[in-house]
Amino acid sequence: MPKQIDLLISGCLAVTVDKNFSVIENAGIAIDDGKIVDIEKNEDVIKAYRARKTVSAKNKIAIPGLINAHTHAAMVYFRGLADDLPLKEWLENHIWPAESRYVNAEFIRNAVKLAAIEMLKSGTTTFCDMYFLPNVAAEVLEDVKIKAILGVPLLDFPTPVSKSPEEGLKNAQKLIESLKGSSRLMAAVMPHSPYTCSSGLLKQAAEMSKEYDVPLQIHLAEEKWENEKIISEKGMTSVAYLNDLTVLSEKTSAAHVNWISREDMEILKEAKTGVIHNPQSNMKLATGICPVPDLLKMGITVGLGTDGAASNNDLDMFGEIQTAARLHKIARKDPTVISAKQALWMATMGGAKSFGLDKEIGSLEINKKADIVLLDTNKPHLVPLYDAHSQLAYSAKGSDVDTVIIDGKIIVENCNLLTCNEEKILNKARLFSKKLKGITF
Ligand SMILES: [Zn+2]
Repeated sequence: MPKQIDLLISGCLAVTVDKNFSVIENAGIAIDDGKIVDIEKNEDVIKAYRARKTVSAKNKIAIPGLINAHTHAAMVYFRGLADDLPLKEWLENHIWPAESRYVNAEFIRNAVKLAAIEMLKSGTTTFCDMYFLPNVAAEVLEDVKIKAILGVPLLDFPTPVSKSPEEGLKNAQKLIESLKGSSRLMAAVMPHSPYTCSSGLLKQAAEMSKEYDVPLQIHLAEEKWENEKIISEKGMTSVAYLNDLTVLSEKTSAAHVNWISREDMEILKEAKTGVIHNPQSNMKLATGICPVPDLLKMGITVGLGTDGAASNNDLDMFGEIQTAARLHKIARKDPTVISAKQALWMATMGGAKSFGLDKEIGSLEINKKADIVLLDTNKPHLVPLYDAHSQLAYSAKGSDVDTVIIDGKIIVENCNLLTCNEEKILNKARLFSKKLKGITF
């Protein structure tokens, strides 16, 4: 007797990102109670199961849902506001003034919705977000039904939402308490960076991450001057300094990590700290190049992130995969230093491992959560198809995403969002840009 299941994806090309990078042609994926219960040749799966709903996936590639491991989602509302500037000038003269003027609960609600639908429609099923009012973002995300790891940036100076570092820490603690029961959302502690947080604040953040057993994310060694500043003030590199303060652990992921030495890499490896690579943002702000080939060779976990849309300028993880797969080749003048498989791994398993979620998500394997993305290959730029990993890393785009499934539930179907009204969200963004236009910062 065939076993009754919730959902069957029938006849896809499954790119599993399991430890052997298995690819199954004409695959069937059986999903029940939010999990993958079988993934095999379609003919076998069809015989073994009877599904309440079947998605016919001819000419579609199935991949694990992508994990955008470092972003600032609400910054989509500042997309294209100020470009072609150095990081410090961009932040201090444009982004921070705009944030202090506009960021409030309504802004977060509308901007996070826009970011979430942009990510969903381009194949991201989980993202890690460092931004203000994550409690407001959480309400929105529960409705949209995307998964997220959320944290409020902790800073030494007042922010649009907290007057002091102590208030920031209190907000972080409140968020951890409030997201305890959520199946899709998780809280994290997010000290902004070694140069914007005092050693006391960094230590307290690390303690909170350990006490509550939640991830910690921090910007680290994004620009050269940051590292030089820490060296001159503390007598050691940013990485060594954070290690000294016990900020680096297996719960920690560090975004950017462009300016590090061989010794720093050894420290990261020893601490089991993950690195989140943000190649498009780093290229656009000309901040530096993360030594990804060396990190991967050393067995350090590397995830991939878009960073905020204001420095990218989109949240399409396929763009990030493509850029990561290309950037290191030209940087090292060697096309073999990073492969299509490694780039896809970073965008899936790498992100999952960085947050300790690799038993649940990141690959298409039995017993994992059914977070699955189907790409439509019936397009001129996706034929012929010789190697699925190459096609995904070098030819595919977010706009090729046709179906998105999270915890076994279809969230995007035939490119349409089922959980929210896209047109309304787009119109709100247009209205915001009208309000902001004409104001010079
Ligand atoms: Zn960032």
